[in-house]
Amino acid sequence: MLVDRLLLGPGPSNPYPEATEGLSRPVLGHLDPAFLSLLDETNERLRAVWGTRNARTLPLSGTGSIGMEAAFANAVRPGDTVVIAVNGLFGERMVDVAGRYGAEVVRVDHDWGAPIDPQRVLDAHPRPSLVGAVHAETSTGVRSEIGTLATAVHERDPDALVLADCVTSLAGIPVEVDEWGVDLAYAGTQKCLGVAPGLAPFTVSERAWQRRVAQPPTWYLDLGLIGNYVSGTEAGGRAYHHTAPTAMIASLHAGLGRILDEGLGEVYARHASAGQRLADGLRAMGLELFAAEGHRLPELTTVWVPDGVDSGKVRTQLLEEYGIEIGAGVGEYASRIWRIGLMGHNARPDRAELVLSALSTVLGRR
Ligand code: PLP
Repeated sequence: MLVDRLLLGPGPSNPYPEATEGLSRPVLGHLDPAFLSLLDETNERLRAVWGTRNARTLPLSGTGSIGMEAAFANAVRPGDTVVIAVNGLFGERMVDVAGRYGAEVVRVDHDWGAPIDPQRVLDAHPRPSLVGAVHAETSTGVRSEIGTLATAVHERDPDALVLADCVTSLAGIPVEVDEWGVDLAYAGTQKCLGVAPGLAPFTVSERAWQRRVAQPPTWYLDLGLIGNYVSGTEAGGRAYHHTAPTAMIASLHAGLGRILDEGLGEVYARHASAGQRLADGLRAMGLELFAAEGHRLPELTTVWVPDGVDSGKVRTQLLEEYGIEIGAGVGEYASRIWRIGLMGHNARPDRAELVLSALSTVLGRR
């Protein structure tokens, strides 16, 4: 069944057309020299988007969560103290994953809808080996100050590692891995990068690389082994690790090319103006935004469901009558907020107008 839908929810965004074309090209073998140079170029494009010169910058084979797993698997030894800032579902997930790799987790809870407080996170433990936080919390639509956190952590202890979840921020709002001093960061392709889900762009600082776990308890996500394939072994040459998802990497390569051709500054500005248009329109409709003012993500707007309105019914009507999917809330906010994404190719004022017009009709607020 062919369905023509505009996905405005926090799930996969509509891909950039270039990324879709990238998927439909002839599939290359994973050891084909043409693919290997495309992989090298993809990694170089990722460095530009991450704001890093990290040699170890690559797409991992799997969705965003595999980036989270890889970070903890390679950076945490059983018994290490890890501080995690939690202000939504994905901070919760970090706590879960860190614990599974044997970390002693100190969680620092914040209200959902609020950004993390770097000072509280810093004060939670005097000498953690790693501090983790989510840059753009998709469950709440909130941006946190990762740069402030990373600077404070490293000023106190230059050896501590900082891990940032950038699944919903990369290529939507500025991410500056080197300037901020982030040691490990991961993203997903399906959000602002505007590529189908399936890869986890990942980057590791030299400090984190030197301190990595020699033999992590996962073979598939052992960054040492993956690095031997992606960057070559010390003896030279690439060593097979697993078959790279070549079509997905070709698609990411094309999507990144589109973003860099447009210009990162322009891409951020496009997300900012589309998000602003949407937020203004929702307020003009008499709706109340959920995320704390000054910390709202332009690429993901969260809004309270008005009293007496059935959240699910509105979402179904938008989907069935207008082909527009918006997201429900998460956890205790499941039926209390909506999450409306304008990411990647969808981050355009006309998309904002479209969803505003359909929502106001469905709510009878014209
Ligand atoms: N972190 C954040 C902030 C996310 O939004 C998501 C997914 O939406 C993930 C992690 C997990 O990514 P995935 O669902 O691609 O595995």
